[in-house]
Amino acid sequence: PVSPCLMLHSDISRFKHESMSRFAEYIFFHYVHQRPPPWSDTLPTLHVITPTYGRPVQKAELTRLTNTLLHVPNLHWLVVEDSVQRTALVSRLLENTGLNYTHLNVETPENLKTQKKPRNVRFPRGTMQRNLALRWLREHINPNSSHKGVVYFADDDNTYSLELFEEMRWTLKVSVWPVAFTGGLLYESPKINTQGKVFGWKTVFDPRRPFAIDMAGFAVNLQLILSKPQACFKLKGVKGGYQESSLLQGLVTLSDLEPKAANCTKILVWHTRTERPLLVNEGKKGFTSGSMEV
Ligand code: UDP
Ligand code: MN
Repeated sequence: PVSPCLMLHSDISRFKHESMSRFAEYIFFHYVHQRPPPWSDTLPTLHVITPTYGRPVQKAELTRLTNTLLHVPNLHWLVVEDSVQRTALVSRLLENTGLNYTHLNVETPENLKTQKKPRNVRFPRGTMQRNLALRWLREHINPNSSHKGVVYFADDDNTYSLELFEEMRWTLKVSVWPVAFTGGLLYESPKINTQGKVFGWKTVFDPRRPFAIDMAGFAVNLQLILSKPQACFKLKGVKGGYQESSLLQGLVTLSDLEPKAANCTKILVWHTRTERPLLVNEGKKGFTSGSMEV
């Protein structure tokens, strides 16, 4: 039987460009899943920001997300670890993906996690990490470059359809769409009027928030991020559910929002959460993962 690698090799003869042929050698000697996605000069780049933290399922989450992102052209993955140092586990994983990535880290200080808070204030999960990625973009991308870009916040545990990435790719300011499994509902969604404009929020929890939308429910034009250097996720005094508003209020007003996913009638992203594995037998009778990377 012909191995997938051999079939690919014949495909590769089409590529004339020098760098493409080096890339071709690369895939010839590696598994097909390591193929970097195609890169185009004309498609806007999607800058996908993922905060992540160490726990038993971290590598599983990042593996699943990698397998999604490998299907998406012109993608730059900004992975920000919530840790004192960039870990070997995440570094190796990213090297092996073949994706175009930037690997950063910033640890959420203990006092932000443990501080006594009013009941409606949640400890900001992934917030400092997302802000660091925004800073990276502002410091490393030339605002005068003609190359277009879009910024999306993709938590490591959600489920993303490939269609979603193409829906957000031509975002002018901020595009929005429904997200499944948030706010105690099957889905939450922007409300769209007959003119195709957002006029409110289909949520049970506080629909009067300026932007009652989950992190996974919007994308922002890169130029807008670069031109409003003060806009970021607020860390202090942000009530539960107001995280997204704290960024978006610094960027747009309701009338700027661009509904996607067929006028917000389709679910293209799911706020899934992974069950924490039961590890009650770990450490028993010498059962320990030891040096095994899981
Ligand atoms: N996260 C993080 N540090 C933490 C907790 C979470 O960096 O201490 C990341 C996590 O990996 C995910 C995002 O922040 O990408 C949102 O966290 P989580 O999925 O736990 O939040 P929820 O789904 O409960 O809103
Ligand atoms: Mn989550």
